[in-house]
Amino acid sequence: MSQHSEIEWTDATWNPVRGCTKITPGCTHCYAETFAERFRGVPGHPYEQGFDLRLVPEKLAEPLRWKTPKMIFVNSMSDLFHQDVPDDYVLNVARVMQTANWHTYQVLSKRSERLRDMLQTTLSAAAAEPHIWWGVSVENRKHGLPRIDHLRAAPARVRFLSIEPLLEDLGEINLEGIHWVIVGGESGAGARPMQKEWVISLRDQCERALVPFFFKQWGGVRKSAAGRELDGKKHDQLPSRVSLPVMDNPRRQAAIAEIEALYQPAAP
Ligand code: SF4
Repeated sequence: MSQHSEIEWTDATWNPVRGCTKITPGCTHCYAETFAERFRGVPGHPYEQGFDLRLVPEKLAEPLRWKTPKMIFVNSMSDLFHQDVPDDYVLNVARVMQTANWHTYQVLSKRSERLRDMLQTTLSAAAAEPHIWWGVSVENRKHGLPRIDHLRAAPARVRFLSIEPLLEDLGEINLEGIHWVIVGGESGAGARPMQKEWVISLRDQCERALVPFFFKQWGGVRKSAAGRELDGKKHDQLPSRVSLPVMDNPRRQAAIAEIEALYQPAAP
């Protein structure tokens, strides 16, 4: 979407892929789909093709243009590990993240098996970077808990869980090797309710395991009225971020040109 984000736990969003397909109950009220479909058929709009998946190579170099270090949510409008995103495109997204290393990246997926498989092999260098955080979505026991095991099996330096929308009590979860937990309820029309005890259980488990805990929102039909306090306070913990210098201008411009050259149409 843009340089600025309304999402509570990030500064900016970067969408080198747009569109996705639903796979599990956490997708039922996908905000990205609702947003994208509003613009289907609007000529020239970035979402003219609605929520159909498509690569956006002209967006690839975007983080290299941002000189101020940001926390960047990668593909807020898609899933980088969707089966229709080719391996070499995923590798080029990772290449940009590794080059523009003055930012911190949050890569969140529901396709946790492909994430694991690529981090174990072709993405192993990106997996080892402290400024790239790899995460999986967890909405319930059946679909969410196996994703935590897939993530744990990936050799990522920083692993996180986005437990949102939390749809049921997850019980005791294994937090070994997990470095951050975000929890939130669903918001908007038809939002499925989240019980306070489910959130308290996760917060207490994170406290015991010394895992930073971020409570995003209660959600509900009127999200702002429900707020984001839990037991009278906000929970805004994050993993510690590395701080690396911004690349000088000539090298940055050269890096942008290299990335842009990857997807230039062939000369006639
Ligand atoms: S995986 Fe994410 S972006 Fe894709 S449909 Fe599900 S909620 Fe939406």
